[in-house]
Amino acid sequence: MIPKTHPRYRSLVTREHLATCAKTGIVSLEGLTAHGRGEAFDYLLGEASTPSALRAEKIAAALLLSARHPVISVNGNTAALAAEAIAALQQASGSIVEVNLFHRTEERIDSITRLLEKHGVKVLSGEVSRFIPLDHDRGLCHHDGMYSADVILVPLEDGDRAEALIKMGKTVIAIDLNPLSRTTRTCTLPVIDEVTRAIPHITRFCKEITEEEIPDILSNYTGTEFIRDALEYIRRKLQDVLD
Ligand code: ATP
Ligand code: MG
Repeated sequence: MIPKTHPRYRSLVTREHLATCAKTGIVSLEGLTAHGRGEAFDYLLGEASTPSALRAEKIAAALLLSARHPVISVNGNTAALAAEAIAALQQASGSIVEVNLFHRTEERIDSITRLLEKHGVKVLSGEVSRFIPLDHDRGLCHHDGMYSADVILVPLEDGDRAEALIKMGKTVIAIDLNPLSRTTRTCTLPVIDEVTRAIPHITRFCKEITEEEIPDILSNYTGTEFIRDALEYIRRKLQDVLD
């Protein structure tokens, strides 16, 4: 039992939860190490959404709302951390939710789908094919999901697949705490924030912004400005410690 008074209570509870999810197969062992990398960057970013991340989250909402065929791609870590938040975002944005795993087995697809459904997510089912030009099971997706999507939200995505989706002409919104990852650098819009903070923010913006505001929100951004903001935030934080 983790004492509530522990200064890192939230982080320890999350780790315990992910470890339990690894035992049931929802989270892969590799997913646990990926979480550790995320935690390190979250520490450097102050464990809070920066103003720049909030701006990216508002743009993400506008992109999902104006999409013809928006899709949210969910992996094991995202399902374990944010199933309920995904249900709310699906409702607010009208997105299709598809389960996509790097370490793919039918058992994991089934258990992640069940977990999401338990929290109210409608999960796309049916056949998958290698529509994404990648070797290995990472290339598998649904015809009516990611293959037909114009805008795809990928929390915690592998850099290779983010790049392949961009090459297919998709608008890719990534949620990734690492401002230096290939995913962050190749996607259309990097949301450099923790997934359990980012998704509820995007949901709130989906409810708040009006159709008239969308062109203005989408008119003037580049992915690199968010990378620069995050790195500058970290640099200033480190400088404060050194001064
Ligand atoms: P690249 O994008 O450079 O190819 P990668 O995708 O192979 O790197 P992984 O560790 O597989 O790297 O991807 C997981 C990414 O997700 C990491 O960059 C990590 O910072 C980020 N991450 C992990 N947990 C969270 C979280 N809870 N919220 C947001 N991002 C997270
Ligand atoms: Mg990545």
